[in-house]
Amino acid sequence: MNRVYNFNAGPAALPEEVLQKAANSLVNYNGLGLSVMEMSHRSHDFETILEDAQNRLRDLAQIPENYRILFLQGGGCQQFAAVPMNLMSTGKAAYVISGTWSKKAAQEAKMYGEVYTLASGEDQNFSCLPSCEGLAVPEDASYIYLCQNETIHGIEYRTLPVFDSAAPLVVDASSCFLSEPMEVAKCGLMYAGAQKNVGPAGVVIVIIREDLIREDVWPGTPTVMRYSIQAKNNSLYNTPPCWSIYMCGLVFEWIQQNGGLKGMQARNEAKAQMLYDFLDKSSLFKPKAKPGSRSIMNVTFSCGSPELDAEFVALTQERGFVGIKGHRSVGGMRASTYNAVPLEAVEALVSLMQEFENNR
Ligand SMILES: *Cc1c(COP(=O)(O)O)cnc(C)c1O
Repeated sequence: MNRVYNFNAGPAALPEEVLQKAANSLVNYNGLGLSVMEMSHRSHDFETILEDAQNRLRDLAQIPENYRILFLQGGGCQQFAAVPMNLMSTGKAAYVISGTWSKKAAQEAKMYGEVYTLASGEDQNFSCLPSCEGLAVPEDASYIYLCQNETIHGIEYRTLPVFDSAAPLVVDASSCFLSEPMEVAKCGLMYAGAQKNVGPAGVVIVIIREDLIREDVWPGTPTVMRYSIQAKNNSLYNTPPCWSIYMCGLVFEWIQQNGGLKGMQARNEAKAQMLYDFLDKSSLFKPKAKPGSRSIMNVTFSCGSPELDAEFVALTQERGFVGIKGHRSVGGMRASTYNAVPLEAVEALVSLMQEFENNR
């Protein structure tokens, strides 16, 4: 079967083995005579699927026992609201603005209280990460918020910064979740929409330290958005995104079978390195992200003019590449090299870039 070179930013590539496995059980799961999509979320069989996904994730990401794993609906953007609703106990929180997604999260949080901007990379056009070293965190900040990988700009905190503050760190890890070993224990809460690196759209994974699961949340917080209610009900307060959770479980299993997070890290570093090496020596293509800030998940670049960029994007489409066009807000190109993108896809992209360059 012909599969394209899929560099989509999200929803994005999934491992072909996972899709095959899902296809094989699509109509008749485990000989039960029904699909996972047709199963009661209260059934023993679905509870097994949910528990299996949680166990695999806890094992893969080495999530400590005092953290709960929730599978929720509403995507990353709903967490922009759920975080302040549930955690902004002082009415104030501190945000690091490293790109479009953290900026959006901060804007959403302003509906629920006061937002301190701890640091911002906006004056650099988000081409590099704002430094978090030695920042003075206001004492009354309920939490510190950070987006680990800014998907649109292609910049990433490969190591989570440590702040001189007792406030818990909240991390949006949507586009780097399970791309390499994770530092869950440095966070009070980490969340990730699945559709970037771990599954289909429709589910967001929230990993929250137990002491942050509070009852005294912002009074208008909808019941389904209360972490306390979702934790008490093991993500089954209402109907969860059953199929998406099942798919995530299959992806977790695939990661386990392919070297775990260290295995993913080696693959992802090799792919990103190949692209950055080419970009750094190219006379035509230029990387957008500065060394030291570069993401291993989303590699952004440009030819220096919108016309040339459009020409290159058209060529990629002709040759069976998908998703190379940059985010509409920033233009240029972006190659999202998530876990399921094979090295050979990156090799093919680099050789197409070389060809384009040679023909100029
Ligand atoms: C895609 C993305 C989001 C938004 O996710 P939705 O599921 O579309 O709401 C938030 N944060 C980051 C880092 C993302 O990449």
